[in-house]
Parts: sequence; C-alpha cells; structure tokens
Amino acid sequence: MVFKGDESREISEEIKKIKLIDTHEHLQREENRVRSDVDALSIFFLQYASSDLISSGLSYGDYQKILDPKIPIEQRWEIISPFWDVIRNTSYARALNIAARDLYGSELNEKSYKEISLKMKEMNRNGLYRWILKEKAGIEISLQDTLLKPKSYAYWNTPPITKLLEVDREFFIPVHRFQDFTTIQDRSDVEAIAFRRGTNVHTLSDLLDNLEAEFNELSGRIAAVKLWLGYRRPIIFEKTTIHEAEKAFNRIFSQRVFDRVEADGVRMTVPEDISLEEAKPLHDFMVHKVIQLAGRYGIPVQIHTGMHEGNENIPANTNPTHLINLIMEYKNVKFDLFHGGYPYISESTVLAKNFPNVYLDMAWLHIISPSKAREALSEWLDTVPSNKILGFGGDYVFPEGVYGHSVIARENVSKVLTEKVEDKDLKLEEALTVARRILRENAENLFLKRLKT
Ligand SMILES: [Zn+2]
Repeated sequence: MVFKGDESREISEEIKKIKLIDTHEHLQREENRVRSDVDALSIFFLQYASSDLISSGLSYGDYQKILDPKIPIEQRWEIISPFWDVIRNTSYARALNIAARDLYGSELNEKSYKEISLKMKEMNRNGLYRWILKEKAGIEISLQDTLLKPKSYAYWNTPPITKLLEVDREFFIPVHRFQDFTTIQDRSDVEAIAFRRGTNVHTLSDLLDNLEAEFNELSGRIAAVKLWLGYRRPIIFEKTTIHEAEKAFNRIFSQRVFDRVEADGVRMTVPEDISLEEAKPLHDFMVHKVIQLAGRYGIPVQIHTGMHEGNENIPANTNPTHLINLIMEYKNVKFDLFHGGYPYISESTVLAKNFPNVYLDMAWLHIISPSKAREALSEWLDTVPSNKILGFGGDYVFPEGVYGHSVIARENVSKVLTEKVEDKDLKLEEALTVARRILRENAENLFLKRLKT
C-alpha cells in the first residue's frame, strides 16, 4: 500500500539527485568573479530583482548606487531597504533569499546584509563555482551564452571569437550568437568583423563568405546558436532577396552624413549608421543565412521568445508565433524556444505540439513565476511529447542566482509530477522517467551528443 505523501517524497528525493544539464547561463569566468569586490547588494541586484526594484519605484540613479561597492554598504542599504521590502513577495526576490540562506546563512534583511556580505567575500575565491554550481546546485554542465560588450567604434579592440568562446569546460560549453553578422548598421560594424577575422569585407558576398568560414571553424565547439534579436525588434524574419539585402549593405557605405566620435580616446569621423528599419532586409537575410548554416552543421538554434529582462519592454515583439515561417521552412533545424514564450505559454505549446522541430525551454521561467511555470509544465505534459521539454536553464550572470533558481526548478518539477501521479495521469515510474528526461537527458540529446561523436 502506497500512502499519499510517500510518492511525493520519493519524487522529490529522486529529483534532488538528478545532475542537471542547464540549457542557458551568462556567467562570467570564475577568475574574473573572484577578482572583483563583492557584497550582497552589488551581486544580488545585478539583474532580475533589479527590474522589480525599478518597477516598485526605485530611481535608475539610486539603483546604480546600490551596485557601487565604493559607497558604504550602510548607505546603500538605506536606499534599497523600502524597495526590497515591497519586492520580497516576487520570485526574483525568493530566488535570492534561497541563495542567501543556503549559501551564506540567512535571508537578506536589515540584520543580515552585512553578515551575508562578509561570508560572500570569504567564499569569493577559487573553487566558488565548483561549490555553488556542482555541489550545491547539482549541475553537471551549463550552456554558456556569451554576452557581447556594448557596441564600440573601436573595432581594433574587438576580441577574437576564440577568446569569447574560451569557457571553463569543467562547468560550461559555449553557445554562440553570430550577433555581429546579424546586426550590422554602420561601417564600423563591418570593419570590426573584417578586423577580427584578419580580412577585408567590401561586399555582401565577402560578408557571407566570412560567416560561412566562421561557422565552419566553430561548429565543432558550440552547443547551439543563439538568436537574441527579439530584444531589438519583432522576431518576424522575412524572406528577403539577396538584392534587397545587398541594397541595405551598400547604403551603409554610401552615407554622406558623418558623425564625429571618440573611440577609446581616438577621435574619428565615421559615416552615420542607417536606421534599423533600413537595415531590416539585411538583418532578415543574415538571420536566414545563420539558420541555414545551423541546419548544414546540425546545430540547434536557441531563440529568445516572450518577456525581456529589464524594464519597459514590448512583449508582443517576441510572440513565438512570429517564428512560424522559419519553423516551417527550416525543418532540418531544431528550434529551442526560450522562456516558454512567457506570457505566450499556450502559443509555444501549440508550436511544440505540432512541429517536430520545436522544443520548449524553461530557462528563466521558474523564477519569472513559479506558479506559471508549474502550470506550463503541467500543460506541456498533457500535450507535448516528453522528449521536447527542457526543464532548467538558470539564466543568471552570478552563480548564487543559478543556485536559487535550481532549487525552485526542482521544487516545481516535483510538485507537477506529484500531482500527475496523484491524479493517476502518470505512474510513479513514468513520472521519474519524465523528470530525468526534462532535467537532463533531453538537453544531453539535443545539445551535447553531436559534440561527443
Ligand atoms: Zn539569457
């Protein structure tokens, strides 16, 4: 006789033991993190909870003060305190409190912020990532999305791509955006690509040759291609002719209006950029090209869909249904839809249910809203084959956040599977098989198998 509660305990115990394959992170190298001056406020509010602080009324100027370790922490606590108090109910804050409690001894409050900061400084040394990511969060490996530096006219400082993809293979495997090829808007963007590749780019055809060469060089090293353009524009990537793309490319070089800019202290005259609207045919063309090359090399494409990080976004731009033309045309490419498309969860469901090449990814989702993430997972298990659901991607720039997220993710998967077993939708063994698939095996099959063979 199995009692209610026994199954729930067994499911959650088994899920705690699973070594996660984490589909998405933005962590800096450990050596850089341990070299920086850290405290609870300057680290915990680097992302996510920061958006809640601003949404609750904190000014941008005061937010920047909170991150500045040169300002005494007592002063910064005074600033953040009333805002922290009103965002404590959000799951961004909850993820931080779980991390603060389990890693540094106490949830974040008036009495603990100094003590947490002291412990954080003490642990900020080599071995930090092994402790947090492997031992505490139980992550085997994470796909690391390289965040590019903001645009600079100083193309001679563009790092070689190999530098960007240098990750610590004990923890990470790189994902690459090919972003500089898909966001060209002025001459310095083209010059930067030419410079870092040690070549000249004068025509669209030169640009395409370089993109192909880069794919060829990197294909055996990257787990996925990432498309991030939804942060800048609607993710409707129209079929564009090479002629239209070339016209936009040539417009960049025929600008008669110039800007005087300073690039790393060097004063330069640069042709003004063309508008995003004018550049769109070129961007659309290059995105199609990137996807075609992903198909040629069998590399899955991760796409940002749904809500954006930060404040004041346009969610409708990233409705996952905008991608249907790509999904239908490139049947040989596996598309990994990020963040469940939140808030367009059911739209994502339908895409993954109907198209063999669409996968659903819970990266970020468990901490946007744990209740919505459970609802999404429950809906997906009712509708979508279990080999197409990817259950965890931390999506943090600091490792403590990844830990907090992993705790919520395991809790969520346990709760949903327990409910399915209690409702007799799944047998206990089936539920455990599903847990292993969505927290590890599916990501292993989709991203890592190709690299091992
Ligand atoms: Zn991300």
